[in-house]
Amino acid sequence: MNRLNKTFLIFTVTLATSEALAANGAFFGDPPDDHHPWSVHDQNRPMPPVVTPAANIAQPPSDAIVLFDGTEVSFHENWRHNRPADEREQNWIVIEGALQSMRGAGKLSSLAAIGDCQLHIEWRAPTEIVGQGQGRGNSGVFFIDGMVEVQVLDNYKNPTYADGSAGAVYGLMPPAVNALRPSGEWQSYDIIFRRPIARDGVILDFGSLTVLLNGVVVQDNTPLEGGSGHKKRKPLDRIFPELGALMLQDHGNPVRFRNIWYRPLRPRALDGGTDGRLSEESTLTKRGEIAEELRQHARTLEGQPKALRLLESLKYEEDAAARAEADNLIALYAAKLKKIAPLEMEAEKKQVLSLDEALQYMHHYRLIPDDYPIRSFVNDLAIQQGWKADK
Ligand code: MG
Repeated sequence: MNRLNKTFLIFTVTLATSEALAANGAFFGDPPDDHHPWSVHDQNRPMPPVVTPAANIAQPPSDAIVLFDGTEVSFHENWRHNRPADEREQNWIVIEGALQSMRGAGKLSSLAAIGDCQLHIEWRAPTEIVGQGQGRGNSGVFFIDGMVEVQVLDNYKNPTYADGSAGAVYGLMPPAVNALRPSGEWQSYDIIFRRPIARDGVILDFGSLTVLLNGVVVQDNTPLEGGSGHKKRKPLDRIFPELGALMLQDHGNPVRFRNIWYRPLRPRALDGGTDGRLSEESTLTKRGEIAEELRQHARTLEGQPKALRLLESLKYEEDAAARAEADNLIALYAAKLKKIAPLEMEAEKKQVLSLDEALQYMHHYRLIPDDYPIRSFVNDLAIQQGWKADK
């Protein structure tokens, strides 16, 4: 396809209705296979939802769920203390638009059950530097009820062990670099969390954490193995629930948090998602669903357009009735073409070319047999009419 045609196609597709889309793009990229329910460039594939980004990218985009916006209300609506009131010495507090950890308050848990997500959270160690090593500005961001911790620590010019530094997956993986700002300044985390998935003792996905500290990548798709903890390795096949509380740690230091929001991530194929490389079973199921939708749509059409829709459905799933009906409709259309006077043929150009495109495609991918009777007829007709080059 040359650049002009490509531009035209994009322009057309942008303006087209879904019916017109089917005609333009149904017979185009590599068809579905054993692991991909969609064609390459599939026009039937749902478009990603629209999200409006914030003017300042640290702020929540339109689909984010805000867990703390600086107010008492958002604190009480979104968080709870883990420890019962009679077992804690004091409570977390809201101060100067920030949520502050208090010694003896214990962990704070989100009321929302959160799974795979993008999380934004900002934190600040106390302005007045107190303590050293793990005792200075220590807190933590925990996923899924505490299964894994992204360390929060003021180790700016404060040596500690590598896998306990800010941005570490605590006990498991040090941050790639130390990108901390000086003590007492706000630090920013952007975190992409995927829980490990193990079923029946088989590890299907180690999960991952990607962490940006102040915009610098410090964890890059780090496998979580079985999660992390203090002094201990965790078993690889440890089961992570799908959802759990996000937790903030009380490590005895008055660390502050602000601007906390998250976005759930789209499901992985292992979690029933239909994007990416799927299992053969999931692919078959999804291909069947897509084919059924196309067959349903075909029922609202007639003649050549109906034939094309049915042919298209065969890309996703073989169906004897759909194939027989498509064959019949195509044979009827060919018979009609044979009766049209040469001077009247121009009116059929669009339909002939779209049928030709469909049959060439279906033949190329062996979705119709070599001796499919109408294919040569339609091709020859298009060439005779000067509508396409003789290859
Ligand atoms: Mg910690």
